[in-house]
Amino acid sequence: MSELRELYQQLIIDHGRQPRNFGPLDNADIIKEGYNPLCGDRLTIYMTTEDDCIKEVMFEGVGCAISVASASLMTQALKGKRIAEADKLFDAFHELIMGNDYADNEDLLGKLIVLAGVAEFPARVKCATLCWHTLRAAMHHSEKEISTE
Ligand code: ZN
Repeated sequence: MSELRELYQQLIIDHGRQPRNFGPLDNADIIKEGYNPLCGDRLTIYMTTEDDCIKEVMFEGVGCAISVASASLMTQALKGKRIAEADKLFDAFHELIMGNDYADNEDLLGKLIVLAGVAEFPARVKCATLCWHTLRAAMHHSEKEISTE
């Protein structure tokens, strides 16, 4: 288990340092900003959608390693997914990050399970969920800036 844990940590560090899908997305039809005042994490999600599918999703921003790694992993998980699937993934991720049993959702979560350990650090949960709350608002066209408070 500790080896697995170390592997997970390596993946988080890797994504925190070299986030995937990082940068603005040309022709994004949805742009949404999110802010986590507890830690100071700020990010912007860019998306293009087509027929209820997420065609492209990218992000940029400044934040702690957890917030950046979580957003990086999220964009990888979401590319090509239907909005309804993304909603399901949001719920599964929320359970994971709250420390609830995620055995039934392991296939759905895929690489996102590397963030399971964050549940042990309540102060960091909002860092990991910022991108997801921002995405949820972006998909459902909520108007206001997102705060995880
Ligand atoms: Zn943070």
